[in-house]
Amino acid sequence: MKCYRCEDIIDDKNSSEEHIIINACGGRLKSKNLLCKKCNSIFGDKFDCELARTTNVITNLLMVKRHHGVPQPIRTTRTSTGEKYYLDYGGVSCSSEN
Ligand SMILES: [Zn+2]
Repeated sequence: MKCYRCEDIIDDKNSSEEHIIINACGGRLKSKNLLCKKCNSIFGDKFDCELARTTNVITNLLMVKRHHGVPQPIRTTRTSTGEKYYLDYGGVSCSSEN
């Protein structure tokens, strides 16, 4: 198999397990034949990380289950008052923090 990105041959030395849909969005299906270890790392650092950050509010509220870790809590500030809000995984607990 060749790496989808760089076209290097994927073998036992440079294979890595890649989530087809990122773990942060609940992806469970994995493959070792799509990306080499180097490209998987690049994708993880650049694209998967950004996608996880932008979908965090939705995955947090929907309580999407991951293979490892939980979504980061949602922190925001009401601009008119400066009041800070903190929302836990699942939206179960909502409180302000100062
Ligand atoms: Zn590659």
